[in-house]
Amino acid sequence: MTMEQAAQQPTQGPAQQPAQGPAQQLAQQADKPKKTMLVQHADVLVQHADVLVTMDGARRELRDGGLYIEGNRIVAVGPTAQLPQTADEVLDMRGQLVIPGLVNTHHHMYQSLTRAVPAAQNAELFGWLTSLYRVWANLTPEMIEVSTLTAMAELLLSGCTTSSDHLYIYPNGSRLDDSIAAARRIGMRFHAARGSMSVGRKDGGLPPDSVVEREADILKDTQRLIETYHDDGRYAMLRVVVAPCSPFSVSRDLMRESARMARQFGVSLHTHLAENANDIAYSREKFGMTPAEYVEDLGWVGHDVWHAHCVQLDDAGIDLFARTGTGVAHCPCSNMRLASGIAPVGRMRRAGVPVGLGVDGSASNDGAQMIAEVRQALLLQRVGFGPDAMTARDALEIATLGGAQVLNRDDIGALAPGMAADFVSFDLRQPLFAGALHDPVAALVFCAPSQVSYSVIGGKVVVKDGQLTTLDLGPVIERHNRLAKTLYEAAA
Ligand SMILES: [Zn+2]
Repeated sequence: MTMEQAAQQPTQGPAQQPAQGPAQQLAQQADKPKKTMLVQHADVLVQHADVLVTMDGARRELRDGGLYIEGNRIVAVGPTAQLPQTADEVLDMRGQLVIPGLVNTHHHMYQSLTRAVPAAQNAELFGWLTSLYRVWANLTPEMIEVSTLTAMAELLLSGCTTSSDHLYIYPNGSRLDDSIAAARRIGMRFHAARGSMSVGRKDGGLPPDSVVEREADILKDTQRLIETYHDDGRYAMLRVVVAPCSPFSVSRDLMRESARMARQFGVSLHTHLAENANDIAYSREKFGMTPAEYVEDLGWVGHDVWHAHCVQLDDAGIDLFARTGTGVAHCPCSNMRLASGIAPVGRMRRAGVPVGLGVDGSASNDGAQMIAEVRQALLLQRVGFGPDAMTARDALEIATLGGAQVLNRDDIGALAPGMAADFVSFDLRQPLFAGALHDPVAALVFCAPSQVSYSVIGGKVVVKDGQLTTLDLGPVIERHNRLAKTLYEAAA
């Protein structure tokens, strides 16, 4: 596509506006624009990538590839020789592999404070949750904000440019606003999921009564968050998601009311589903239905819904999800850590179910490295279903286009004119890629996980030469570790 054609892509606003610096953009974000379209700042030219993976319709992989970016969107993609030769900022990608920014569809970032907690090291889902709820009951707003910064830094440095976060516990005045503040500070594209728990032990649920909220309060706060923050425009940096935690921690009523609210405001729905055998048993005993039957009954299916895990989704459930466009967040490391099983990802994808990748919370996947998760997805499918169950390119597609589809977006996940300017690069000259350069794309998945050299989100350089540009990470990690110690000791 030529730049003239790219100019006809569905973006609005005057073609030329005065250039703005990052500080002005941040000020604009703080004003909460409701419809993000074209954000103007310096044009960026990316040139001479050894290989540029487009994930476009033809899945082109370009040698000596490049991009031309205006504001927050890509206007041209092609071999370097066919692109303009100058711009306000030129990034020389010699020796680098460039791919679309990875999309993380499931996380609980606050759990970065409770990694490798001894009592939860060797338990399955329900036992694991039970030992951690009482630790999480002491979370504070500061802990939420700092742990979200740390979690996002880890994601960014491992190739992720868009992440969802499912925050479902709000003790001591914590709010989803605390996560949103962190996302804005670090510059990550963010789908903030307003989770919730309303059925405590005394009502037959799993969480302690002290950490559940009243359903009326949950709905009221969810609406406030949508009205305050949700941006449904193309290239949105921030969307809000309605996300009761799981069938075993909220009521049928709250699930139904949540779906009604999400449709009223045009936002997505997210929860955990069919995670392991106990989860299935709970659903059958409590609701007399499989998890898939339960969500169908509640109206929790459609292209605006995605469910985490679905390890134990049966064939009828796969058909239902395919028919309705309901998405799945596949979380291989977490599924292995908790011995939940192997999700039938190949079967889901062949049937037409949208599948994205998720690192899941840092207490059940103690490393939230996005490119490592891509590799783990490939390896785990092979353990379950044979050596040709997933290729390296399949795994990358799930982590880019798949994630975009699951989050109900068509402006991220590929490098093509009219798409958001979100990409990352990996330096192929590192020892970990040595000997694999006959196929750098496969090398990225098969070889040991690497950190990015560059990450650009919405046209803004967020990682440069392997370092975050938006945050001095050292002091944040020190503060994170101090808060983690306080949290852990409070429950000891
Ligand atoms: Zn989860």
